[in-house]
Amino acid sequence: MNRFEPNLRIPGPTSLPDAVREAGARQMVNHRGPEFAVLQNSIVARLKTNFRTENDVLIVTAAGTGGLESAIVSFLSPGDKVLGITIGAFGDRFAKIATTYGADVTKLAFDWGTAADPDKVREALKAGGPWKAVLMTQNETSTAVTNPIQALAAAVREVAPDALILVDAISGLGAVPFETDAWGLDVVVSGSQKAWMVAPGLVFVSVSPRAWEAAAVAKMPKFYFDLVAHRTSAESGQTPWTPAVAVMFQLDVALNLIEQEGQAEVWKRHAAVGAAVRAGLTALGFKLLADPKFASDTVTGAYLPDGLEWKAFNGTLRKLGLVVAGGQGALKGKIFRIGHMGHVTIPAILNAIAVLEVALIELGRPVTPGAAVAAAQVAALKSLGLAK
Ligand SMILES: *Cc1c(COP(=O)(O)O)cnc(C)c1O
Repeated sequence: MNRFEPNLRIPGPTSLPDAVREAGARQMVNHRGPEFAVLQNSIVARLKTNFRTENDVLIVTAAGTGGLESAIVSFLSPGDKVLGITIGAFGDRFAKIATTYGADVTKLAFDWGTAADPDKVREALKAGGPWKAVLMTQNETSTAVTNPIQALAAAVREVAPDALILVDAISGLGAVPFETDAWGLDVVVSGSQKAWMVAPGLVFVSVSPRAWEAAAVAKMPKFYFDLVAHRTSAESGQTPWTPAVAVMFQLDVALNLIEQEGQAEVWKRHAAVGAAVRAGLTALGFKLLADPKFASDTVTGAYLPDGLEWKAFNGTLRKLGLVVAGGQGALKGKIFRIGHMGHVTIPAILNAIAVLEVALIELGRPVTPGAAVAAAQVAALKSLGLAK
């Protein structure tokens, strides 16, 4: 971030460390040659460490939505009974993809701003079935809520032990604690442009042995997103179609940065930054959208109070060098969201809060200069155990 570069605080694509940006400028290599195979094999091994899994992890060139589509078409058949747990726009999207390909989807929707309730999941599963799969979102980017995936997965295993658990972990994996194997998750999807500090273009999909068994009989139509084809190509260090090579170069460097910092430190940093954003926005008088028990450490959403209009507010922020996101779906024009995943530091967040202070003062709202920055700083230090 410098004078000429805005503080990009949207929940993806996220800003890139300089070393990652530079890696994207490298000369191409033959994607069917030995350099690429070495690169892909190394990246896959390191992604498995970050996913905390021994399952296969495949790399598919696509937006995050393509990763979700690959998870639906590779393992399911038309007519399969699927429970789509949704707490916002991305949960709705996952369910819609399954519906589009002919799955028999029952939606279990929770109020926006709340997390999914494992007891309600148990009830819904008991009321229907036999279930082929359950869809869930780890971190609902539209509402800034993180679901209790471990408890939700346990509820599924209890009531529908054979159902595949498919997880959209696009905007949280890599930033907050997550256990693919220990939580028994069959298919987990993440995307390069969120917590991984890499440009858009790649999705990562982990696949359990049970899911591969389902793939052998899955009848949904598929071609580009056939994960069996990706697995076959990966055996020789390749991808079935031309991959986003430049994004692979970036990912290689980003994984080095993550390894240098250490997974536990990355998680701690996100917890501190999340606490800072929530404290800063609260001190500015904003009402947060998410249930505090399930507030996301990668994105925060807050309501726009009466008299603060999204267009004017956003225009002022942009002029001052801060780029935030608006609301999605039913929350359009009602909330704004700040992304804080991946390449994010406490100073970058204090900058964002400082800009918010200035913008609100410019817009004539009652704000004490420095108060929200101080509240954010204290919350970050408390989270890191450096203040009481
Ligand atoms: C960003 C995101 C996606 C995918 O978005 P694309 O625009 O397709 O890359 C899916 N789910 C969640 C939770 C996301 O945050």
